Amino acid sequence: MEFDIVIKNGRVIDGTGNPWFKADIGITKGKITKIGLIEPSEKTKVIDAKGLIVCPGFIDIHSHADYTIPFDPMVVSTIHQGITTLVVGMCGASLAPVNPEKKELFDKEFSMAAPPGLEYNITWTSYSEYLDEMEKIGCSSNVVYIIGFGMIRLAAMGYEDRKPTKNEMQKMKDYIRDAMEAGAFGISTGLIYTPQAYAETDEVLELTKEVAKYNGLYFSHIRNEGNLVIEAIQEVIDIVEQSGCRGGQIAHHKVSGKANWGRSKETLKLIEKTNQRGINITCDQYPYNRGATSLMTLLPPWSHEGGPEKLVERLKDPEEKEKIKKDLYDGANFESFVKNIGWECVYISSLETEKWSKYMGKSLTEITKAEGKEDEFEVLCEILIDEEAKGGMTVESMGEEDIQRIMKGRYTMIGCDGSAIPLTGPLSYGKPHPRFYGTFPRVLGYFVREKKIMSLETAIRKITSFPAQTLGLADRGLIKENMWADIVVFDQERIIDKATFTNPHQLSVGIEYVLVNGDVVIEKGKHQKILSGMTLRSN
Ligand SMILES: [Zn+2]
Repeated sequence: MEFDIVIKNGRVIDGTGNPWFKADIGITKGKITKIGLIEPSEKTKVIDAKGLIVCPGFIDIHSHADYTIPFDPMVVSTIHQGITTLVVGMCGASLAPVNPEKKELFDKEFSMAAPPGLEYNITWTSYSEYLDEMEKIGCSSNVVYIIGFGMIRLAAMGYEDRKPTKNEMQKMKDYIRDAMEAGAFGISTGLIYTPQAYAETDEVLELTKEVAKYNGLYFSHIRNEGNLVIEAIQEVIDIVEQSGCRGGQIAHHKVSGKANWGRSKETLKLIEKTNQRGINITCDQYPYNRGATSLMTLLPPWSHEGGPEKLVERLKDPEEKEKIKKDLYDGANFESFVKNIGWECVYISSLETEKWSKYMGKSLTEITKAEGKEDEFEVLCEILIDEEAKGGMTVESMGEEDIQRIMKGRYTMIGCDGSAIPLTGPLSYGKPHPRFYGTFPRVLGYFVREKKIMSLETAIRKITSFPAQTLGLADRGLIKENMWADIVVFDQERIIDKATFTNPHQLSVGIEYVLVNGDVVIEKGKHQKILSGMTLRSN
């Protein structure tokens, strides 16, 4: 038999969770065609994996790379982690569909989402057109698309804080049908973000029923990851159970705020019990004690009604501002980071104006002091007004014990929850969360090798065959004959994340080779600048 590539002398960890074995891997036309002892011919490209681990490519089950792929399809920060498949469209955020009748709203939405100095070239309206366009652009890794509830609600209703009319509900269902028929794998929600936060459970349930018709999945950034975390997980369970959809995924699972530390015991028990009843609930996690999101998420959802411009107007109105402040400290109607975690744990990650961008990496308390002021809320308002409601933050909110307990959980996978960025250029602005660069090597290097919280084989199963099975990708996620050759070769003694909160733009190390559909994208740790990924479609 002739092979295009043979990976020789490696220690194979096949993704099933079984212990490693010694074997060579033969690859022909993008697929794994032989596992065993192989004597390659002279024409065959040989990768010597002596002393290295050979395993399936990692699947990032929670990615926002859809926001950067149109600018840079090389996905540098994620492919160097060994990620060969990105699951994008998370937290209800996606770049489609677009409603041309609401052009201004969408222009604003896209300009908020674009990195400073860049603009999206939006050539699509429907989700199917969007997928075709992304396929044309290509990508260094495979991409699985999930439709974001935020965009379909925006397209149907704008930034309105009310229930949808019958017509609007129908419109949203039509958007879902188009996306699912085009090959989306499910729907995602981000129920702390506006306009999604305006939707009640029954609205999300009705839309998820549409997804269920296509055997799709429900992914959710739940309504509350702090004091009401159990209630918020229960909402996911109810939606999955009542819609009849295939399964539900709790995004970046955490128990946020010191008062809730330890409660991952309860959340994992609830997930376990639900699975025993025959309802498929899974979750994912990034391995850090800080979260990251947009700065305006600090403010109550009602203050966002009408969009970012309206939010800025409200901040300029003393009476409205006072109401916002009261809600923020009282936190009765939303997950208030300020109330639960405190200003000193809120760090600025990205800002654009000259006045404020110098404070990137600093906490709001530090910034307030540096400005010679006393009230963090006043400083936050100034920032949001000057930045036109843009800006990002990281929030120190999680405890180490919970992080480890969740990671070990039977139903837990791993996701970066970030976009895919290069080390230099306009996409690498600010101080993004280090998870963009370090998530998977941090799990394998820090938590598995150094902390020994689980076996390497178990960790690899969680990032390969488990997410593949959840998504229904029958020909990926395992080292097995006839599988697509998505393969990572790494050094288990050396693999580690380098990115930190103060110095995030650093690639992880120890990943020597990454193959995507049988093409070598990373060779001896270097990106080969090829786009061998596929747009994976559910049908
Ligand atoms: Zn999220």
